[in-house]
This record gives sequence, structure tokens and C-alpha cells, in this order.
Amino acid sequence: MTASIATLSGPAFDVERIRADFPILAREVHGKPLIYVDNAATTQKPQVVIDRIDAYYAHENANIHRGVHSLSAEATAAYEAARETVARFVNARAANEIVFTRGTTEAINLVAQSYARPRLGPDDEILITALEHHSNIVPWQMVCQQTGARLVVAPIDDRGEVVVEEYLARLSPRTRLVAIAHLSNALGTINPLEALIAPARAAGAAVLVDGAQAVVHAPVDVQALDCDFYAFSGHKAFGPTGVGALYGRAELLEAMPPWQGGGDMIKVVSFEGSEYNDIPYKFEAGTPNIAGGLGLAAALDYFTALDLAAVMAHEHALLEAATARARAVPGLRIYGEARHKAAVLSFDIDGAHPQDLGTLLDHHGIAIRTGHHCAMPVMQRFGIAGTARVSFALYNTQEEVERIFDALERVRTMLVE
Ligand code: PMP
Repeated sequence: MTASIATLSGPAFDVERIRADFPILAREVHGKPLIYVDNAATTQKPQVVIDRIDAYYAHENANIHRGVHSLSAEATAAYEAARETVARFVNARAANEIVFTRGTTEAINLVAQSYARPRLGPDDEILITALEHHSNIVPWQMVCQQTGARLVVAPIDDRGEVVVEEYLARLSPRTRLVAIAHLSNALGTINPLEALIAPARAAGAAVLVDGAQAVVHAPVDVQALDCDFYAFSGHKAFGPTGVGALYGRAELLEAMPPWQGGGDMIKVVSFEGSEYNDIPYKFEAGTPNIAGGLGLAAALDYFTALDLAAVMAHEHALLEAATARARAVPGLRIYGEARHKAAVLSFDIDGAHPQDLGTLLDHHGIAIRTGHHCAMPVMQRFGIAGTARVSFALYNTQEEVERIFDALERVRTMLVE
């Protein structure tokens, strides 16, 4: 598979043309051309996204869903069209299955507070895995505190893969909800969702997928996955910060109470009581991030115009090259060697603190991430405090891989020898 993928990443994918779409990639840091490989934290934005946000504020700005005037009607239409773009992107059945949120974190908290909290009690369990981001751990811990339910964790093995038999052994009629990452930000593991979701649903549990890392690195089809909820963030998908989406199966969203009250989420308000709005508006109290929603749609349009197979092949070739270079660095240990893995390389080097590696690489214009990556339990699993992490996106190049590891070898010599 690797050979054909490497071949594909040649002519099928013009990385220089892609790079030209991202203005920030032309800048320098410490007098060196920027090499941005902190994409798992946030991605850079193409000019079309920047222009879309700019155009909204320059020509279209108005509050939505409220005004009778033209600007408000235009802004409302654009925002609802953005919702349809998101729905198409994840292959939801209808746009009303898409709730705009601040991002993945807010989407998961929404499900925790509106789906889980009213339903769960002391006999119930929520099942997660040991590779989750804090955003897919802490909201469930909070619900467990609120309801008396128990948080159960399926372990990962030394490669950083969920141990499927152990996961299945933890599923029972008590399991009311399963929450799993599509793709681990700390290790790069792509979870075998087919093997995890079907048994969970058969056991009667609802399934939430944390798609924060996955949406621009793997195909996402919520109907094919047969999940109940899918959460993701715009900023990790070439869109703006402060906006993201929750896909929810319509019948579940219908049955869930709102979790925040305010304008837009109601039809009628009186002091005797209020009548809530239809889905998805019931979950969107207050003026939303309108420009963000439009920017997110522009980002998804940009991304879907590309050939996903070619993007994935390009990123896979970067990972292969980086992994080969990493293996040749003395004292370097890789964390996360899943058989099905995205372009995330987490590592440490004997005698060199990850933070020092990050700081010194920055002087070479190279932006990597160091630390626990908001996945402290993953670090605990491997008995470390943190790693250095290189995470690629579609605009990174093979030449950058070479420059990263040339610099890393120099930095290692400085720190260790
Ligand atoms: N889940 C995963 C797997 C992530 O990588 C992240 C972001 N690092 C989140 C959830 C949270 O995303 P956000 O901060 O955009 O809400």
C-alpha cells in the first residue's frame, strides 16, 4: 500500500499550488522560512477563508434569524447555506442535524449535558478509550459526578491502538454512551470505528465520535459510520477558530432538552414558561459566530474541491519519510505506531527535554508542539510527561521533512553531546 501511495503523491497532488493558497506559509520566523508542523493544534487558513470572513464584515454584516431588512435576510441565508455545506461534508441526512458550536469541546459538552445528564444514573456507564483528548474525558467525568454514573476506560496497547477485545469486554447493557476519538492527536492512531461503533450500538449505547483531528485527514460519513453524534472544530480544518459543529441524529436531538437558554432557541417566551425552537436552533442560544460559520463553509468547500485520496497519500508519504528519518536519530523513541495511522509523529529523545527541542527548533523557523497534547492519560500510559510532536497537513513538503530532521539532529547534538 505504501508504494502505491508514494507514487500517487507525485503528479496527482501539486503541493506548491496548494501552498500558494496559504499566505502565512510565505512568512519567516527567526529569519528562516516558516515550517509549520503544528497542524494537530490548529491548521493554517487559505486565502479564500480569510476573504470570506473579510467579505462578510465588509459587505454583509447583520444579525441572523431576526431582522426583516435585506442585510439580515442575506446573512441568515448565508449562515443556513453554511450549515448545509457542513451537513453535506459529513453526509448528514439533513441540515437540521448540524448544530453550530464553538468547536469540538463545546459539542462534546453539549452532548454530555443535554443527552447524557438527563438520562444517566448510578447504574449506568460511559465508555471511552485511553487515547482520548481531555475534551473527550473531562465532560464525561463531570456528567458522572452529576449523575452517579461510572466512567469506564478501554485500554490501548504499546502501539497506541485501542485493544478491541478489551473494549468489547467493557461493553454491557449498563453502557449508555460510548465516546471515542476518530483520530488521536497525541499518537496519530486512526481508530477502527467500524469495529467499535456497531457493537456499541448493538449493546444499546449511543455513540459519539470526536472528529477534531479526523475531518481533513480521513473520509467522514456519519451515515456510513452509523454514529449518533460527531463533533469537530473549524480551526483544525482550515477554517476559523471559535466555530465547529455537532452532528446529531435528528431523533436524538429532538428528544434532548436545550442546554443553554437565550435568544434564538425559543419560539415563545412568557413568565409562565417558554416554548423551545425546533432543532438545531434549540441548541444555538444567542448570536452565533456568523463570520465563523461562513469561514468554516469556505474552508470545507476549499477542502472538498481537492482529491481526498491524493491528500491522504501525500500526508502518508510525509509520515513515512519522517518516520524513516526519526528512526535514524540516536536515542529517539516514537510514541504511537498504530498500523492505521495519520501523519502525526510523537517522539522524545534521550537526554533532551521536549520543550528544549521545541524551543531550539523554533530558532530554525520550525513550529512543532511539545508537552502532553491535552492527553495526559496517554502520557501516563507510556510513563512520560510529554513528547515532541510533528503533525503534517496537506501543505507540508518532503523538503520540509528533510529540513526538520536536519535541524533536529543539530539540536540533539547541542542538547545531548
Ligand atoms: N479532541 C481532539 C482529538 C483534539 O485534538 C482536540 C484539539 N486538540 C479537541 C478534541 C478539542 O478541540 P477544540 O479545542 O477545537 O475544541
